[in-house]
Amino acid sequence: MLKDFFSLLFPRYCLSCDGPLVSEEETICTNCIYELPKTNYHLEPNNPVMGKFYGLIKIKHAFAYLKFVKNGKVQKLLHQLKYGNHPEIALLFGRWFGQELKDQHFHQEIDLIIPIPLHRSRLRQRGYNQSDPFAQGLSEILGIPWDAEVLQRVIKSQTQTLKGREERWRNVSNIFNINKPNQVQGKKLLLVDDVITTGSTLESCGNTLYQGECQELSVCTIAVSQ
Ligand SMILES: [Zn+2]
Repeated sequence: MLKDFFSLLFPRYCLSCDGPLVSEEETICTNCIYELPKTNYHLEPNNPVMGKFYGLIKIKHAFAYLKFVKNGKVQKLLHQLKYGNHPEIALLFGRWFGQELKDQHFHQEIDLIIPIPLHRSRLRQRGYNQSDPFAQGLSEILGIPWDAEVLQRVIKSQTQTLKGREERWRNVSNIFNINKPNQVQGKKLLLVDDVITTGSTLESCGNTLYQGECQELSVCTIAVSQ
């Protein structure tokens, strides 16, 4: 009752469609949640995200929650996540997708969730790493720990324009360091990021984790861009 009164004074809006939120809704309205373009790739072992890594690096499971469509809902929400100071978007996505992964028993195959770190100058600029709340949301539901301090980004990656795959890879190779070797060695890791495009950042990070002798590597992103 009191909450409804306050929302009359201070209306709350859906971060996807800008429509008003009703009392039980948080951050994204029910309609927009219903219309989110899910990939359901976690039900499909040889999915297009997995395909990005064939012949490059060994990946156990490859997941992406949503399809990134230009000018679509997911693009708008990811923009709010990265530039609009709305980390709660990724927390919700992590919880929702975590439930779907748990339903398929994937939590039994992962020891630790690791978000891809930002370079510290980028982190200062943004105030948070947009992959952290996604990792946190997954962790809460799956009952698996997450650790944002396992890796460190030592080199700021270049803007990736239209270059060949090899050159793109060189751009992001050896940009990560392992801070906590004990959290890597012998572990089944789930590496998470906001969007996967070419997969070169995840690949580079994954190579670092294999150098640290992880047992298995899976990847999970909020969205996949074709
Ligand atoms: Zn909406």
